[in-house]
Order: sequence, then C-alpha cells, then structure tokens
Amino acid sequence: METEAGTAPKIEIASLRKQFGAQVVLKDVSLRVEPGGVVALIGPSGSGKSTLLRCINLLVVPDAGTVRVGADRFAFGAGARLPGTRALARFRANTGMVFQHFNLFPHRTALANVMEGPLTVRRMRRPDAEALARALLAKVGLADKADQYPSRLSGGQKQRVAIARALAMEPEVMLFDEATSALDPELVGEVLAVMRALAADGMTMVIVTHEIAFAREVADRAVFLRDGVVVEEGAARALIDAPREPETRAFLSHFH
Ligand code: ADP
Ligand code: MG
Repeated sequence: METEAGTAPKIEIASLRKQFGAQVVLKDVSLRVEPGGVVALIGPSGSGKSTLLRCINLLVVPDAGTVRVGADRFAFGAGARLPGTRALARFRANTGMVFQHFNLFPHRTALANVMEGPLTVRRMRRPDAEALARALLAKVGLADKADQYPSRLSGGQKQRVAIARALAMEPEVMLFDEATSALDPELVGEVLAVMRALAADGMTMVIVTHEIAFAREVADRAVFLRDGVVVEEGAARALIDAPREPETRAFLSHFH
C-alpha cells in the first residue's frame, strides 16, 4: 500500500492477533512505520507491548494477521504456510532487537560479541567483521572497550554493546524493549543518546519505553496500547501532551 508521500511503510503490521492459552494478548493490532520513522509504543504493564515487538521480529509467531518488514512479508492464520527456519533467521537478522537485559555472551569480549553475527550469520570474512564491529563500537562510544569482557562493563556500556551487536546485522529496522528500564538512573542518558543518534541517522525504530519525555522528543508517532488493543495513535507530541482518550490520559497522568 502506498502512502500519500508515495513511499511504502518500512514496517506494516495488519490485523495481528496473538493468544497465550485462553488469554488473547493482541486483538486485531495494526501498525505502520514509515522509512526513518520512530514510533513510541506506550501502555501499562501487561498490555502486550513486548508481545507486539516480538511479533514484529517473529520471536513470537502470531496466530493471525500479517507482518511485513521491508521486502519480507508473512501471513498467519488458517491455511497460512509458516516461514521456514532460514526465512525466519533472515527476517530476524533484518529486525534488530534490544531487550531490557543485555544478553551478551559473558565469556566473549565486547568486540567478539559484536563480531558474532557478522561471522556466523552473515558469513563475513574475519577482518571485515572486525572492521565493522570496531566501527560500530566507536559509533556507540565504546571504541576503547573493545577488548573488555561484559563483567567489566557498566550496565549502560553493556546495553550500548548490545545495540552495536544488533546493528552489526545491518538491520532495516531496530526494536527497543524497555532498553533503559534495568539501568541505574545515571546510566540511562548514555543509552538514550545512542538511540537518539540512531533516530537522527534515519533508522526506522519502534521503541517501547516508560521514558515519556524521551518518547516525546525522539518519536514522531506514538501508539498507546491497552489490553492488546491500540486505544490511541497519533503524532507523538500531540498524543503525549493532549491525549484524546480518557484511558491514555489516565495512563500518562502517572508520569507527571
Ligand atoms: P507488556 O510488555 O506490555 O508488559 P507483555 O506483552 O509482556 O506485556 O504481556 C502481555 C500479556 O501476555 C501478559 O498478561 C503476559 O502475562 C502474557 N504473556 C506474555 N508472554 C507470554 C507467554 N510466553 N506465555 C504466556 N503468557 C504470556
Ligand atoms: Mg514488556
């Protein structure tokens, strides 16, 4: 589908449904993100934000609906053929995900953590993978930490390595699931600064965050999810400053 500007969205999710046991966690969720767009996904705990992000990179397989990122599109539901292992791996590599907890390999240096994907998934030559990894560590401000093991890094530094590791797959989009929630307050800013720079660079991003001021500043669109339903969606500043729906207003009142 074409937008007014004539460019297709980079991410297009339509009529997504996901159920865990008897609980319907996502009910007919649709979401579009323009190329270079940044969407903040906000909502109370348990509203389905993580599940939606995991459906966008197919860590969670939806029960119904369609998921498209760039040129790759998958349909789910009755009669749909599920993607094979190779198609899934390619799709996930193109959709970088950063979690609340860093998930770095503890027995590998920062450099080796970032080189892992380029070597094993992208099958790059070692010197090329190393050059890429060093460039990405520099980009997240950690050129001098390349040879450190994760245990020697602060939480903020570990999270920046995790961002560099996701970028090493050269993904078309980046998904952030509460990337700063586990950090000590004084370390949040350095991670948000890297995310802000990525957005300014034109990366297409979906950010689940409780940093409402950051979402207002960096995101161009915001989506408020509650009980697996998109309650309200709009320009980030308008939605955050002047929510239309009472549920959005009630949620945002906790952050003032
Ligand atoms: P949020 O990220 O907004 O806090 P989640 O997507 O993590 O919400 O969870 C939404 C609901 O789905 C919650 O009730 C949660 O307990 C449930 N849920 C999430 N993942 C699973 C799972 N793998 N199995 C069963 N229930 C799950
Ligand atoms: Mg979550």
